[in-house]
Amino acid sequence: MSSTVSDYRLDGIYRQRQEGFFMQRVKLTAGVISAGQARAVAALSTRFGQGNIHLTTRGSLEIHWIRENDLAEVKRSLLAAGLTSRGACGGAVRGVTCASQGALGFPTVETLARRIHRHFTANPRFERLPKKFKIGVEADASSRRHLIQDVGLLLAGSHDGVARYDLFVAGGLGREPQPGFLFESGVSENRVIPLIEAIARVYAAHTPPGKRLKHLVGSIGEPEFRRLVAQEPSAVEELPPVTGLPENLLPPAGLRRIVAGVLAGELTSDQLLALADFADRWGGGFLVATVDQDIAFHVDQTLDPARAAGALEQAGFSRGEVCLRVCPGSHLCLAGLSSTRDIAANVLEGMGPAGRGLSWALSGCPNSCTQPQLAEVGIVTSGLVRSEDGQRSPRFDLYRSGDDAFGRLAESNLTLDQLYGKLRQIG
Ligand code: SF4
Repeated sequence: MSSTVSDYRLDGIYRQRQEGFFMQRVKLTAGVISAGQARAVAALSTRFGQGNIHLTTRGSLEIHWIRENDLAEVKRSLLAAGLTSRGACGGAVRGVTCASQGALGFPTVETLARRIHRHFTANPRFERLPKKFKIGVEADASSRRHLIQDVGLLLAGSHDGVARYDLFVAGGLGREPQPGFLFESGVSENRVIPLIEAIARVYAAHTPPGKRLKHLVGSIGEPEFRRLVAQEPSAVEELPPVTGLPENLLPPAGLRRIVAGVLAGELTSDQLLALADFADRWGGGFLVATVDQDIAFHVDQTLDPARAAGALEQAGFSRGEVCLRVCPGSHLCLAGLSSTRDIAANVLEGMGPAGRGLSWALSGCPNSCTQPQLAEVGIVTSGLVRSEDGQRSPRFDLYRSGDDAFGRLAESNLTLDQLYGKLRQIG
């Protein structure tokens, strides 16, 4: 194969911690995937991986344990199923995410998410960016996910039948969490894509390699950033309205949304197949990957949601009682500093009733992929410390939510035993 590792990233592929193995990420726009596509992913995982699928906190899917020689066939099979991985990793516009899939406005934002995805995915003008470029489209602000994107769009109503969005920029978590700031309110949906183009061009032209948009804004200041964006011709461009039939795949959820809890986002291929069958029977043929690493279904209004919930339990899925987001950590990820899945199992085992009512997130390194700063209890593996006997052991930071946009740092540099002790106090 002639591709470089860098090229692999643009195809949504990362090297795994285990030598010779790769992870393939699959972009799902706003988390939506058809039952047939889910079966295709399950089949690929069985054939080329180890029969496991990881659900990410951006509503994407990951297949691990793929060998290099199989990567091209995996890509072909994904394309044949109408799925894409282009730009799912590396310096590209990542999968367009949505946390408000259960909101009444979801069909509107799903439609916009599809247009943004279509415009930027595999568009060479917006590949090889300094680092990842994340876009999220939300129907309401409750999840605060619009604050952690390079561009976060929040539905703000409509005018003359045209949806309007408040547009936030330069948010992000990682080592230096930074809430996005309101760049412009009430942006017409016909201006959204050209305005994102302008922002991405400024980002590409003025940011050192390896840095996010938040670093650019931090270094040049908001006024200068606004001035640079305003200089881009597309910043004021308004595209013709898109006409035609609706593009959203899901009807409004209302009270008929059912969630299948998936612990730590770990699914087997057989479980994904069972969920695909459930989607065909109860969910109009679609599964919805959530930012909490679960799978949701929007049950058809003509069907009985209570019977649907019973069928889900019969298929072996709980209703997602505990919200605990967990990344693969040192089990699979090259950057991982702690064995997150083992720690999560211990945390769950020791969790009392009070803890079960909270949202939790555990990240295996300061990259904070599980968004711990948005959880009521957030745990970040902050580093490794070498003890006198030469062993390296992880240290943890603990975040607790408060009135601010992001949780505040409550404890830092805890050993694992100290962390468990603090968590027991929470409940
Ligand atoms: S938080 Fe760190 S360890 Fe976990 S998936 Fe992200 S990069 Fe890997």
